[in-house]
Amino acid sequence: MFKEAKEIIDKSNNIYISAHVNPDGDAIGSTIAICFALKKLGKNAKVVMPSYSTVFEFLPGVSSCVKSIDDSEFDLLIALDSSDNTRLAITQEEYNRAKKVIMLDHHQISSPYGDFRFIDDKKSSASEIAYLFIKSLDVEIDKDMATLLYTGIMTDTGSFNYSNANSDTFRAVAELLDYGAEAVKVCKKLNDTMKESKLKLIAKTIDNMEVFYNGKMRYSFVPYDEIRSLGIDDEDAEGMTNYLRAVEGTEVAVYVRGKSDGTNKVSMRSGGNVDISKIAIEFGGGGHPRAAGYTMREDEETEKQKLIKVVGEML
Ligand code: 5GP
Ligand code: MN
Repeated sequence: MFKEAKEIIDKSNNIYISAHVNPDGDAIGSTIAICFALKKLGKNAKVVMPSYSTVFEFLPGVSSCVKSIDDSEFDLLIALDSSDNTRLAITQEEYNRAKKVIMLDHHQISSPYGDFRFIDDKKSSASEIAYLFIKSLDVEIDKDMATLLYTGIMTDTGSFNYSNANSDTFRAVAELLDYGAEAVKVCKKLNDTMKESKLKLIAKTIDNMEVFYNGKMRYSFVPYDEIRSLGIDDEDAEGMTNYLRAVEGTEVAVYVRGKSDGTNKVSMRSGGNVDISKIAIEFGGGGHPRAAGYTMREDEETEKQKLIKVVGEML
């Protein structure tokens, strides 16, 4: 499955690993786990991650990630969890400095890039792919790697609740637990702990919620000044969409947050009847049938009206 990738790795020494901007548990878990594996093979490997949410600070290796690529040229880039090379947390100029690129992804609609590609949308997460990839490199998975991969699978499957968690996923998770994954700690840190400011953001999200199509669509916009007044960083302002989606009868939940750079970021969740990845692509983003997003290109009110119309057509 990964034979050609293995050959590329054998010939590479200076390796950078990167995932999408605004990294989630899957992006962080999969990249750092692969970095640890490559180090065990004696490679000079680094993860490029310019920013991340403080909630992930407890994970092994997070503080060793670099913000950018110093080398004017390097042997290999391993890109994970990013269906499109422009969404990677590195610049195009940095991307072009790689002599070879390996792409590993689990998104349904991909714009494939790189010399070796492994794309499988039946896999729960990039971390599940990374787990298979590391095993194929004959590297022994240690406790830290297991915890990282477990985190990626847990977060991308909504704690093993979504339909992307299949029996292969559970088998991988069972093995990761055998390798020492700290499941209880990860759950406590990521599912069971929040700052008070986050609780206030939930209240704000509910306060700003608008309801359309008899409750089938829920939309909440929290402008950047409101987020800033709660003392919340860009990276910590996400994760509100699930609260909207959880309301009975909701088919499409939309949470829009203003960011410090002046843009508005849309995060959508579907109850299952509407393929929102199609909507996200139409608006310049992407994602999965039940979780997708994009950055608004026009002002919030104009974009909202367009979105309400498109969702109405799909309902
Ligand atoms: P979230 O709502 O958690 O930010 O994103 C859910 C999913 O939507 C992500 O896993 C990702 O696949 C996709 N997504 C979110 N924002 C964007 C975007 O701006 N561009 C693309 N291509 N995909 C996005
Ligand atoms: Mn992912």
